[in-house]
Amino acid sequence: MYFCTMKMNGKKVAFHTLGCKLNFSETSTIARDFEKNNYQQVEFSQAADVYVINTCSVTQNADKECKYWVKQALRSNPDAFVVVVGCYAQLKPEEIARLDGVDLVLGATEKFKITDYLNDLTKKDLGEVHSCEINQADFYVGSYSIGDRTRAFLKVQDGCDYKCTYCTIPLARGISRSDTLENVVANARQIAEKGAKEIVLTGVNIGDYGKGEFGNKKHANTFLELIQTLDEVEGVDRFRISSIEPNLLKDEIIEFVSSSEKFVPHFHIPLQSGSNDILKRMRRRYLRELYAERVNKIKSLIPHCCIGVDVIVGFPGETEEHFLETYNFINQLEVSYLHVFTYSERDNTPAAEMDGVVDMGIRKKRNKMLRVLSAKKRRAFYESQLGTERTVLFEDNFKDGFILGHTENYVKVKTHWNPELVNVKQRIRLTHIDEDGSVRFEEPSPVTIFA
Ligand code: SF4
Repeated sequence: MYFCTMKMNGKKVAFHTLGCKLNFSETSTIARDFEKNNYQQVEFSQAADVYVINTCSVTQNADKECKYWVKQALRSNPDAFVVVVGCYAQLKPEEIARLDGVDLVLGATEKFKITDYLNDLTKKDLGEVHSCEINQADFYVGSYSIGDRTRAFLKVQDGCDYKCTYCTIPLARGISRSDTLENVVANARQIAEKGAKEIVLTGVNIGDYGKGEFGNKKHANTFLELIQTLDEVEGVDRFRISSIEPNLLKDEIIEFVSSSEKFVPHFHIPLQSGSNDILKRMRRRYLRELYAERVNKIKSLIPHCCIGVDVIVGFPGETEEHFLETYNFINQLEVSYLHVFTYSERDNTPAAEMDGVVDMGIRKKRNKMLRVLSAKKRRAFYESQLGTERTVLFEDNFKDGFILGHTENYVKVKTHWNPELVNVKQRIRLTHIDEDGSVRFEEPSPVTIFA
C-alpha cells in the first residue's frame, strides 16, 4: 500500500540520447535517478511532464539535432519542461538556453542531479543555466545502461588527457579519470542480475583506465588489470571492449583477450588517418607503422578477430596524395569494417584554425570512397568466416520478419523472428551471406542452445 501511493508522483519523464555508448550509459543512470524520485518513464514520442535530451558535441550537427529533439518534445506536450544535458550543453550552454522551449541546461557537474532542479516545472522564457568550468568536472560518476535486455554499456572511464587537434571531448568532459575496480565489478554484477548477457566497456579513452579523480594522474590500476578482474565476474557471458587507442593497446591486452573465454575477439581501434603527416597535424600519439603492427599482432594471435577502424576524411591539409595514402594503407590492412567521419570544424579546437581547408564536396567524395572500401572489407571478413562455428547472441532486434544478433567476433547474423530467441546464445555454423549483407547459418548437429 505504502509503495503504491509513494511510487508515482504522477509525473512522467522521457529521454532522448544523442551520440556515443557512454552517453547511453549515463542517460540510463539518470533515468534510474528519476525512477527513485517516483517519476514514470515513457517513450519520447509520448506526452511527458519532463523531457531530458542528452547531447553530443562530436559533429557540427550537434546543435541541429538538439533543436530537432526539443521541437519533438514540445510537439508531444507544449507545456513540458525541457532539460538539455551532455557534451553540447557543457560547451554551449547559453546558446542552448536561448533555444525556444528549453527550460534548463545543466553542465557536466550537474547532469546527474537533474531531479534536484525540478521543484518548479513552469516553463521559462529563457532556459536556466547551471554550468561550470570544465576543470571543475574532475570527479567520477559511475554509469551503466540496461535499456535493451541483451547488451549493457558499462562506463569505466571518463574524460581525456590527450590533445588531438580536432577534438572537443576534453573540453566537454574534462580530464581522464576512472571508476574504482570495486565499483566496476559491482556494476557488472548488477547488470548480470538484470539478465543482460553482454557487457560493452565504454568511456572516452578507456585504455587510459586507472587514473584517479581530482587530477590524481597516478594509475591505481591498469586497463589490463581491469579486464582480468572482470573476467572473473560470475553471470556475465561476454565482455566487449568498445574502442581503444592503438598506442594503449598493449601486447598483454591482446594476449589476454586471445585466451579469455569472456572477452570477445573484437577490437575497435581509432586510426583517423593513414598518412603520418596528417597524424602529426592531428597530434595523434602514434604513426601508421604502430597501427599496422597492432593489427598484425592481433591477427597473428586471433586470426578470426574482428577489427573496426575509425577514420576521418577531409582534415585540414589533407591533399589527394594524403587521402590515397590513407585509402591504400587501410586497403592493405586485414581489418573488418570502417566508421568513416567527415572532418567538421569545432570551435576552440586548433584544427579549426589550420590552413589547407578541404572543400566540403571533396570531403564528401572521400567519405563515400572509404564507405565503399568499408563494405568491401566487411564482405571479405564475413566470407572468411563462412563454414566456421560461432556463438550468436540474439538481440531484441526485429527487422523485416527476422531476429538479428552478433557472433562473438561481431558477425551480424539473422534468422526468422522467434521471440524465444531474444537474449539467447546459440552455437551455429555460418553458411552464406544474404542479399542484405547479414549472415545466415545452420545449426551444427547436435544443436547447442545456451539458455
Ligand atoms: S583521444 Fe583524442 S580524439 Fe579521443 S577523446 Fe581524447 S582528445 Fe578526443
